[in-house]
This record gives sequence, C-alpha cells and structure tokens, in this order.
Amino acid sequence: MFCKNCGSSIDDKAVVCPKCGVPVGEGYVKKATDKSNPIAIVGFILSFFIALAGLICSIIGYNKAKNENRDYGGLALAGIIISLISIFLVIIIYAVSCNALLSMADYYSLIQIF
Ligand SMILES: [Zn+2]
Repeated sequence: MFCKNCGSSIDDKAVVCPKCGVPVGEGYVKKATDKSNPIAIVGFILSFFIALAGLICSIIGYNKAKNENRDYGGLALAGIIISLISIFLVIIIYAVSCNALLSMADYYSLIQIF
C-alpha cells in the first residue's frame, strides 16, 4: 500500500509510515479508538468496599484516561476521592475506638482503686 501523506510505498503490515511517521492502516486506528477503561469502573466500585484496592485501581484508571485519552477519567477521579475519604474515615474510627478503649481501661483501673 501507499502512504496517504507522502505517497511512498509501505509494507501492508506497517502501522506507521517509515518515511514520514504518519500512522497508516486499520491496526493503528483500532488502537486509537479503544477508549474502554474497565479499571476505572473497577476502581470506582472497589472504592466503596476495599478503599486501598479502589484507590490503586482508580489511580491506574485515571492515568490511563489522561495519558491514553480513555473514557471515565471523571469516574476514576471520583474513585480516588471516595477511596481517600474511606481511608480517612477508617483512620478516624480506629483512632476514636482506640481512645474509647483507653478511657474504658482508665475507668476500670479507677474502679479497682476504689
Ligand atoms: Zn509517509
């Protein structure tokens, strides 16, 4: 086949023209229009249940959306935010329950004293 840009003959399997570098053939087009981003969806769903896994998947999905121009960039960003909030909440709940346990221990040691 021939290059649409410079007209030089190129191998049928070539994805870019070796002379001018312009993409040719269907293989390249297919790759460029593949905008699916399943990891962004997975990350978004996981962020509600397993915050850390959701965060990692969402970051990967967000990078794919940004760098490879794929869909669901907003969804991935939402996944990142939700996971961060979940992690933050878990830390707060953990800290509060630790505090509660400590004050309970204080309470019991006071009872023992009196
Ligand atoms: Zn060319």
